[in-house]
Amino acid sequence: MFIDKAKIYVKAGNGGDGAVSFYREKYLPSGGPDGGDGGHGGNVVFVVDTGMNTLSDFRYKRKYLAVRGENGRSKRCSGRHGEDCEIRVPKGTLVYDDDTGRLMADLSSVERAVIAKGGRGGWGNQHFATPTRQAPRFAKPGIPGEEFNLRLELKLLADVGLIGYPNVGKSSLISVVSEAKPEIANYHFTTRLPVLGVVRVAQGASFVMADIPGVIEGAGTGVGLGFEFLRHVERCRMLVHVVDVSGSEGRDPITDFDTINRELAVFNPALAELPMVVAGNKADLATDEQLAAFRAEMEARGLPYFEMMAAIAQGTDELVKHLAARLPELPPIKEYEPEPLTMAELDAEADHTVKVTREDGVYFVEADWLLNTMRTIDLDDYDALQYFQRLLQRAGVIDALVAAGVQEGDTVSMYDFEFDFVY
Ligand code: GDP
Ligand code: MG
Repeated sequence: MFIDKAKIYVKAGNGGDGAVSFYREKYLPSGGPDGGDGGHGGNVVFVVDTGMNTLSDFRYKRKYLAVRGENGRSKRCSGRHGEDCEIRVPKGTLVYDDDTGRLMADLSSVERAVIAKGGRGGWGNQHFATPTRQAPRFAKPGIPGEEFNLRLELKLLADVGLIGYPNVGKSSLISVVSEAKPEIANYHFTTRLPVLGVVRVAQGASFVMADIPGVIEGAGTGVGLGFEFLRHVERCRMLVHVVDVSGSEGRDPITDFDTINRELAVFNPALAELPMVVAGNKADLATDEQLAAFRAEMEARGLPYFEMMAAIAQGTDELVKHLAARLPELPPIKEYEPEPLTMAELDAEADHTVKVTREDGVYFVEADWLLNTMRTIDLDDYDALQYFQRLLQRAGVIDALVAAGVQEGDTVSMYDFEFDFVY
């Protein structure tokens, strides 16, 4: 089954916690701190798998977790790093942060992209010894791994996209000029999935053609099937607009042509700007007057025009030669630039914000990172307390308290820890 959209949740591994431990040996009173560091958490990494062409795997598995780092141990033993979680996707997959809409990676320009970074392991107490603090009874916790709700979108990579009404002969065309063998039948929407075909031209050169399900009226505004698939021509370098020049289904070819162009522009104005070649198909069913009228109209509009009978490969070589000659002059297949984080998101990433509230003369301090830090610090230990106070200063907690109006001697409450404020 062809699936080109998916939503998944990914979480990188948390860093392991640093250890608090002291060197012990028989007959030796007490040694220095030897708590090892926590290991880093594994990343969530997207990897291109050229054998894949659909996102259907993601219908069944929606949660991807990388392994957390192990905690540090005594004797300066660092915890093992957590293993990365690799997610295989087809070439051309776009990865979006579903909460902000930000494009994080285009897996067409790169083969691998780290999407969620594992948290760093925390330092063991071996790092916190100083001449005046020889027995630090605290260590650092691991940093949590990043987590995201992601939206994946596959946009196939093709040089030339075929567009047009259903049943005009798009699949017939790709089947005679490439090795692709899409379903061909005389009813609408035989093509339910985009199909890519490699078109070989002289001297080993080749290009990729995409056959997508027929666009129908209203497609650009979300009505009908064609809309779903138009995105697969968004990377294309040029379009071949296939028209049933004989009007065999009772429609007028020029009206058809204009309708599809309007649908394209509604869906994405950039699509309407792409170089376009027109293929008047089913020439065998058309009268000479019909052929002449349509040709004259396309020429009047300055569009390259080719008459053909795709079903019997008549006129298709001329079209292919024209495409092969034009492609080298056109920009390459479109790649999307990942968007940088906004300032607001950057601030949130380095989240050292603190919330200070005042109730009954007591100042309450709240911050997620603070809670994490306090869990690993033994506040009954004099050295640890000194360290903690400096941390509060550096991280702006003291400033936040002052800004909230704290006075000398006021009580400050930080979770299960209380102290009197002194400058
Ligand atoms: P698509 O829906 O645009 O992909 O159209 P298909 O390639 O599936 O073709 C629709 C029908 O038109 C099929 O029955 C084809 O055999 C037929 N067809 C394709 N090209 C020609 C042609 O040049 N002349 C005639 N008479 N029929 C054609
Ligand atoms: Mg088709």
